[in-house]
Amino acid sequence: MTAAPSRNEDDVLSARDLYRFYRAGEEETLALRGVSLQVRRGETVAVVGPSGAGKSTLLACLAGLDEPSGGEVRVDGVRISHRPETERARLRARHVGVLLQTRNLLPHLSVRNNIRLAQRAVRGRPAVTAEALLEQVGIGHRGRALPRQLSGGELARAGLAVALANSPAVLLADEPTGELDGESEQLVLRLLRDRALDGSAVLIVTHSAEAVRVADRVVALSDGRAQETGRKETSHVLR
Ligand code: ADP
Repeated sequence: MTAAPSRNEDDVLSARDLYRFYRAGEEETLALRGVSLQVRRGETVAVVGPSGAGKSTLLACLAGLDEPSGGEVRVDGVRISHRPETERARLRARHVGVLLQTRNLLPHLSVRNNIRLAQRAVRGRPAVTAEALLEQVGIGHRGRALPRQLSGGELARAGLAVALANSPAVLLADEPTGELDGESEQLVLRLLRDRALDGSAVLIVTHSAEAVRVADRVVALSDGRAQETGRKETSHVLR
């Protein structure tokens, strides 16, 4: 399937004909069967689908955390697939923010030092300070706290601050609102939307009806194949 076939300069995230096989003994699973999708600057795309559809595999391939068996992934115009692990890690640090379900914070570091650690993976001076990032996500006063000292909502915001540490062109989020109450969910979705409006390409793997509501487009994965469920005229405006 092709969610949006033509390649365009504004396509900051672009996946072409992705395949991913897993082999365990005699058994072979085809987790992705020719998935293509593009996300433009300024766009928020929701990826939905039942358990086992291939969502986590797709996100890992898009982030360069995993290698597709076939096909190609480009972020910010640069191919990230089919490269050695160290190169993928370098490209990911520079171009991709990843917000994972199991939060992307190291437990023994303060929130502020988690952000600084992410920034150290990229050469040069960060475009934004850890303090400014914490302010942006609304937890400016929690920089010194350890992850375990934060509430669920604060933890989600801290994870987002780490994902945004290097002002990535592409932001990928795996179930970012899965464990949050309604208010925190609204807040995290608003921050993700704001990021897209600031010019990033945002892709959210989600089961949340609210996340689907705020997305510009929805891509449905089923049995390793993707189908665009239609471009929305306007996305729902968050409170
Ligand atoms: P989802 O995130 O939509 O639940 P996944 O991407 O986790 O789906 O899984 C897609 C398919 O690939 C499933 O059939 C799953 O069992 C299989 N799969 C995922 N990871 C592995 C792995 N490391 N080894 C073997 N099979 C896997």
